[in-house]
Amino acid sequence: MDKDFLSTVSHELRTPLTSIRGFSQTMLNSWDKLDDETKKKFLKIIEEQSNRLINLVENMLSVNKLQTEKENLIYKESNLKLIIEPVISVVKNTYSTHKYVFEHNENTPNILVDRYKFQQIMMNLIENAAKYSDEHTTITIKTALVGENVSIKVIDNGIGIAKENYDKIFTKFSRIDNPLTRKVQGSGLGLYITKNLVEKMDGKISVQSENGQTTFEILMPVKSVEDQARARCSQ
Ligand code: ADP
Repeated sequence: MDKDFLSTVSHELRTPLTSIRGFSQTMLNSWDKLDDETKKKFLKIIEEQSNRLINLVENMLSVNKLQTEKENLIYKESNLKLIIEPVISVVKNTYSTHKYVFEHNENTPNILVDRYKFQQIMMNLIENAAKYSDEHTTITIKTALVGENVSIKVIDNGIGIAKENYDKIFTKFSRIDNPLTRKVQGSGLGLYITKNLVEKMDGKISVQSENGQTTFEILMPVKSVEDQARARCSQ
């Protein structure tokens, strides 16, 4: 296990666990003294911190798999609307003050991806868009057919990313230091996993950040099930 992994694990696991233990102990010890609203607030924190732990564990398992074995992806022809809508709902649950706009072009063809992994990709991007932008700002998710590819864009109006960090953010454990990044939690693994998964599924990911707007774009080739099967057989 490398040093980065250990230091991330110890910090990222300890913080939510301490919070879960603290709030559950307070509730157990002072149950009769707490009003319903306070109990609900504490339970909400416990729920949020548990979700954070689940995400982190999923990300760590993914990194481990990316490093050790060639992951088996289960390709299915998938409708992007059905993949993205549930992800927006989950992110909205935690980041409820942002405005979410989903511009799905109905002409966008289905893509051949591992649905579960593609949801993990979309979760990382949409959650980042919310994490690194202020409350009440808008997050736009756009799909379209561009030439021979399906384009999926996640656009936010947040803190932005300097050009010299465009490559760095996709590397393992990298976080760009600024006051907001210090405030929001993260392991620096999300975009590393995202890029790896996108590329495994023959796609590309890029970022552009200017004039207060940050856009992550994924391009996925439009392929039929037959094309895909042929490509895999000839590998
Ligand atoms: P994490 O969010 O856990 O730190 P990621 O790998 O998802 O890790 O992102 C790496 C870094 O890239 C973040 O720490 C942040 O500095 C930067 N970043 C990612 N998405 C955005 C965004 N939408 N706007 C501004 N900065 C971002």
